[in-house]
Amino acid sequence: ANKDVLAGLFNRRAFTEKFDYEQDRFTRTGRPFSLILSDIDFFKSINDTYGHDCGDMVLKKIAGLMQSSIRKQDTVGRWGGEEFIMLLPETGLDGGRLLAEKVRQLIEDEVFSCDGKSFSATMSFGVAEYGETMELSELAATADKRLYIAKDHGRNRVVDMDGE
Ligand code: GH3
Ligand code: MG
Ligand code: MG
Repeated sequence: ANKDVLAGLFNRRAFTEKFDYEQDRFTRTGRPFSLILSDIDFFKSINDTYGHDCGDMVLKKIAGLMQSSIRKQDTVGRWGGEEFIMLLPETGLDGGRLLAEKVRQLIEDEVFSCDGKSFSATMSFGVAEYGETMELSELAATADKRLYIAKDHGRNRVVDMDGE
């Protein structure tokens, strides 16, 4: 059923257009919006252990879990190979963190299986709220920095601030 969810995700270009729209809206209305960047933990070892096709299945399943977690106005994109990005209109940092935590838990609880072997997977998340005059590259860089703090602090977690 979720065979094509990955194909249905926004690519970078389409995601950039969504961002531009939210940025304009922020300028007009001052309404907050947030961004979540996420990356699968130890994905290389999933590929190495179960094969690349199994890795692709994991990606699709995760994409489906993300899409089932969001509201209609939210957007999920594929930012890189095993990196996903979410744009959350009308959402501040607290709301962004709560959604990231919900998705993190959903993925942690999911049982994946390939060739009759079951395993679990986790993801790390960086959350950032848009601030005046920021460009997408800056907002994404802030989220990315936090994602790497999550990796450094043991993975399978959500980070929404710089430093400790
Ligand atoms: P970390 O927890 O630090 O993120 O570890 P990692 O193993 O996930 O990170 P690394 O960047 O070393 O590996 C990412 C892997 O994701 C390597 C690449 O082959 C794999 N990958 C990227 N895109 C795809 C894809 O579309 N399908 C599959 N199966 N694998 C992919
Ligand atoms: Mg990565
Ligand atoms: Mg990874």
